[in-house]
Amino acid sequence: MPNNSGGGFGRGGRRGLGGGFARGPGGYCICTKCGIKEPHKIATPCQTQKCQKCGSPMTRG
Ligand SMILES: [Zn+2]
Repeated sequence: MPNNSGGGFGRGGRRGLGGGFARGPGGYCICTKCGIKEPHKIATPCQTQKCQKCGSPMTRG
């Protein structure tokens, strides 16, 4: 009689987070005036980014 106890099959780690940068280095900037949301440009602080709509400075969202 083969004593085979404790078979561990199918033990795989979960590979979560498949693509898509939800909150990566980019993020969003929000207009201080009209509140529009624009994607933050990398290496450009939101404060120096201007709203495309009204031209107001953006803030970090
Ligand atoms: Zn605006």
